[in-house]
Formats: sequence, structure tokens, C-alpha cells
Amino acid sequence: MLPVDLHCHSTRSDGLLTPAEVVVRAAERGVRTLALTDHDEVSGLREAREHASRAGVAFIDGVEISVTWSGQTLHVVGLHIDPQNAELAAGLEQIRSGRQHRAESIASGLEQAGIEGSLAGARSYVTNPELVGRTHFARFLVERGHARDVQSVFRKYLTAGKPGYVPHQWASLQQAVHWIKASGGMPVLAHPGRYKLDNALRESMLASFAELGGAAVEVVTGSHTPDQYATWARYAQRFGLFASAGSDFHGPGESRRDFGELPELPAGCTPVWKKF
Ligand code: AMP
Ligand code: MN
Ligand code: MN
Ligand code: MN
Repeated sequence: MLPVDLHCHSTRSDGLLTPAEVVVRAAERGVRTLALTDHDEVSGLREAREHASRAGVAFIDGVEISVTWSGQTLHVVGLHIDPQNAELAAGLEQIRSGRQHRAESIASGLEQAGIEGSLAGARSYVTNPELVGRTHFARFLVERGHARDVQSVFRKYLTAGKPGYVPHQWASLQQAVHWIKASGGMPVLAHPGRYKLDNALRESMLASFAELGGAAVEVVTGSHTPDQYATWARYAQRFGLFASAGSDFHGPGESRRDFGELPELPAGCTPVWKKF
């Protein structure tokens, strides 16, 4: 098991545990180096850091930035960022501000599919008023019995082509990489195996990311199968990028990987944490 986890969420975005609870759970499950990476949000880092020092965990300030690239949503994790950096903070605030209007559009899409009251329903799960996201809608839809779990709700209602999907313009890849680097951080392309891209677009994504100053790609993540670990290890090497690893934990029973369940990186990868 890998004692490192560089991607997870708290109640400051769409996770179920507070930043303090995240750190305690990670420590109890054997994580020794941890980054908290809430969506477009850094307000949980201070609390997490305080608890990490008590729990003997090396804590890395992180964030997961929502990006629109070539009509697709990509996520870029920033590691070792400075949460106080003004440019980063302004960029994140701007991304968060678009979420409110998007939530209203998601709710009208669902209403057209016969589901009433989803905006209020999603809000009842929101733990940071600036951070309403699809996960909060998903929890409400599960509560109402529209699907059996969060994963199936996404398939049925919240992904491209489905009634609760709304195309949205997030930050550009260039902005996200720039903000992370401007704050002293390392940009990491999150769960690359999840994006629906053909080979040519994949390579163009990796080339652009590397050229803009991207540092690493997630090789081992809760979103990848073991086959994908090998695929993305090769891509990392080919594009001169380091390899990262993170569970993308959101809450007990809600994520594919819990803390302490990540395997080691495949041979030949240079771990991004060697560069911290
Ligand atoms: P948003 O930023 O509001 O678009 O929400 C993105 C979040 O939704 C991701 O970080 C995941 O937590 C969750 N998510 C996206 N796709 C899926 C899926 N297929 N199954 C479960 N959760 C998903
Ligand atoms: Mn999430
Ligand atoms: Mn993500
Ligand atoms: Mn994530």
C-alpha cells in the first residue's frame, strides 16, 4: 500500500467529511503524506493542516481546478500551492461564482424530466454555499429513489446528453496551470483516464499540458483500473511528466477508493512527491 494520497475532498466542496475528519481518517488508514484538493476551493486547508501536524501527517496544500478544454471538462490538481496567493484566489473565486447559475440550469433540466424541487434538494446537501455541484444533486436524486447510488445517478441524469447536464465554461487549461504555478504549486492532470478523448486528442491534451508547464499526471487514482495505471504510466514517461497518486476520496461508502487503498506506482514512474 502507498502511504501517499494527493487527491481528496472535504465538506468545503463535495466531500462528506470535514477537513479535520478527512485528516484523521487518512492518518488512521496509514496515509503519511496527504493533500486536500477541494474543487475550486482552498478554505479547508488551514483546518486540515492544523490537524495533520497533530496526527503526524505531512500535509500538502492542494486544490482541484475545473477546466474546459476542447469542449471537455478536465480537472487540474494543484499541489503545494500557496492558498494566500492573490491571483490563484481570484481565479478560484471566479470559477466558483459560475456554479450558482449552473445549479439553476441543472434544476430546470431535471424539472423538464419530471423531477421537482431539485435545487432546494441539492442545497440541503451543500456544505459550502459557494460550492454547489453535481454531487449534491446526485445525493438528492438518490434520496428520492431516482437511482440506487451516486454513480448510477450520474449515468442516468448528470452526464453529457442527460436531462441534468448543462455545458459549462470553466477556466482555461492555460489559466489553471498559470494560477497554480504563480502560487508556487505543481499542476497535476487529474484522473486522465476518465476523459472521453480519442488517441489524437489525448496526445494533444498531454502535449498542451506539458508545454504550458504541467508537472505530473495522476497514474494511480480511484478513477483508473489497473490496466489504466500502466497506460498512464507510459504516457507520463513519454511526455516527460511525473506521476501522482490519489484516491479522490469523497466520503465513506461513496468513493471507489478509501484512504489507505492505493497500490504503489508502476515501475518506471517518477513520483511527483519526490519533487516536494
Ligand atoms: P461538478 O464539478 O459539479 O461538475 O461535479 C464534479 C464531481 O462530480 C466530481 O468531482 C465527482 O465528485 C462527481 N462525479 C462526476 N462524475 C461522476 C460519476 N460518473 N460518478 C460519480 N461521481 C461523479
Ligand atoms: Mn467531487
Ligand atoms: Mn475530479
Ligand atoms: Mn476530485
